Amino acid sequence: MKIKIALATILAIYSSTDMAYAAKRSIKSPDGKLEVITDVKAGTPTYMVKYLDKIMIDESPLGFKADIGDFSSGMTDVKQVERNVRKHYNQDRIKRSDIDYEANVLEVTYADADGRQMMVEWQVSDNNVAFRYHIPNGKERRSAVIEKEESSFKFPPYTTTFITPQSNPMIGWKRTKPSYEEPYTNDSPMSAKSLYGKGYTFPALFHVGNDGWVLLSETGVDGNYCGSRLSECKDGTYSIAYPMEGENNGNGSSSPGISLPGTTPWRTITVGNTLDPIVETTIPWDLVEPLYETKAATAPGRGTWSWLLWQDGSINYEDQVKFIDLAANMGYENALIDNWWDKNIGKDGIERLSAYARSKNVNLILWFSSSGYWNDIEQSPTNVMSRPIPRKKAMKWMQDNGISKIKVDFFGGDKQETIRLYEDILSDANDYGISVIFHGCTLPRGWERMYPNYIGSEAVLASENLVFGQDFCNNEAFNATLHPFIRNAVGSMEYGGTILNHRLNRDNNGGTIRMTTDAFQLATAILFQNPVQNFALAPNNLEDAPAAAIEFMKNVPTTWDDTKLIKGYPGKYVVLARRNKNKWYVSGVNATSDKLKLRLDLSSILPNGRQTAPVYVSDKNEGVKTKSVKIKNGIASELTVLPSDGFVMIIDAD
Ligand code: CA
Repeated sequence: MKIKIALATILAIYSSTDMAYAAKRSIKSPDGKLEVITDVKAGTPTYMVKYLDKIMIDESPLGFKADIGDFSSGMTDVKQVERNVRKHYNQDRIKRSDIDYEANVLEVTYADADGRQMMVEWQVSDNNVAFRYHIPNGKERRSAVIEKEESSFKFPPYTTTFITPQSNPMIGWKRTKPSYEEPYTNDSPMSAKSLYGKGYTFPALFHVGNDGWVLLSETGVDGNYCGSRLSECKDGTYSIAYPMEGENNGNGSSSPGISLPGTTPWRTITVGNTLDPIVETTIPWDLVEPLYETKAATAPGRGTWSWLLWQDGSINYEDQVKFIDLAANMGYENALIDNWWDKNIGKDGIERLSAYARSKNVNLILWFSSSGYWNDIEQSPTNVMSRPIPRKKAMKWMQDNGISKIKVDFFGGDKQETIRLYEDILSDANDYGISVIFHGCTLPRGWERMYPNYIGSEAVLASENLVFGQDFCNNEAFNATLHPFIRNAVGSMEYGGTILNHRLNRDNNGGTIRMTTDAFQLATAILFQNPVQNFALAPNNLEDAPAAAIEFMKNVPTTWDDTKLIKGYPGKYVVLARRNKNKWYVSGVNATSDKLKLRLDLSSILPNGRQTAPVYVSDKNEGVKTKSVKIKNGIASELTVLPSDGFVMIIDAD
């Protein structure tokens, strides 16, 4: 009895001081389905995420340790502010062009025993949670170094993972890693160790049993912070980790420094009971704004890329003429000239090639190494993009010669120093009307919107690996079914796809063997999104590839007004619809070892439900042919997709 009274008294005291010290707070999405609940447990700020009342992220710690104080323990919750944010914006280089964003905002301020404060800002939209830290001025301090973040994500024990490991620093080709080019595991238990024991890179996909899906990533990362990753899993919990000391050849700090008052980047949690909100999310761009105006916004388009199949041996004047001619023949806007052009073609040669290309309405894209002192790359040009003086000289020369795109390769990791280099290159390039592709690089984090002359990034095991090894060819279909759900869901992906050679060498008669069909290759031109697609076509394809495939590739768009997941499961198969103006391109590939018999429900993209649509499919005799498929009441007549095969259907949107 005594105990009961005591407990009641404590509860009464707690409730009487509720206004001042209430710890538990809740914020819901505009549709009411997604909820974030914050609390303070033994002095540590915590949160959890529920969708339709199911736990998607269990109670997890927040906060960080900085050189100005420990904001992860000994904290009390002192204040909350609620508001709403709505915005409308347009983007021409992501999965949707016309975007409405609405979120409920909760700002919770915490203080330590000395009264030092930090604030956590939550934005909760219908399928996305985002949070970041705001750090006010210290009494004397106007700068801080964030030493460790406690921000974590604890998943229910039945969760399985679709994640890719962070590599060790300074390993791989010419000691260029990490570069977000590691394989994915799929549907693995959380107890599995990562390949290198260094955690995982963003984005990371989690299947929370029967309750739904969660995609973790971050956005709004610029030169004011480092890129972060996820730690190894401990008791179902992944924590935010900073770059490894060894990255960037050991140069630069792995702890981000910020000026005060300051904010950290957004961490994003995309949540759904199906995969649709994962594939369709625009959260990386909803939370950021353009950082500067541009005189030369990225022109979307297609391009040829000799190096993919013809490799270093094609970096000479004569072969580049062949690929410029191929681009002109296909109606493509670009021809990418890869490494060694400075040695093998020379500046004079490039000037003549650029004039020749422009006479055929083709623009050159020129390759550069990013380094520098952060790896052993000898592929040249080196030491140009790494510093402002040579960089701006080269950019001026390109501008004078009508070259408006560069591809910069082999970056040094995720340290703040390296993120600043990405930003410096983008900013300088913008002054010279140049737009930028990154390779051997980090994940873009909202960059399509932040930097208007940014095109896209590799940050994936890309098509080059098909040439490097048969294993990758054998897994091509499997990998293709992951990207729309994970890597390409949060950022433009420079993959270099659509190979129509059957053998992956110059003469289409040796090297590795492509295991996927031509129709599969056409499907990837839609599945993989990048506003400038540099395809792996070769001059011989004009003669030896199926006529229907070449006709499709001449007309394929690279920008999208909308994107919808129709059906799929990462690692097994995917059917995705992307709309360019008034045409929907419904694209599918099959990575299972079984024939897929698909009766597609297209009612989400075809409201009147009725149409006869052309579909590009495999054909025994012709390789690829078009046939027509009938759609009635939104359901398309049955399509059979063989293993490692694909299709593209083109539907009038009106
Ligand atoms: Ca690469």
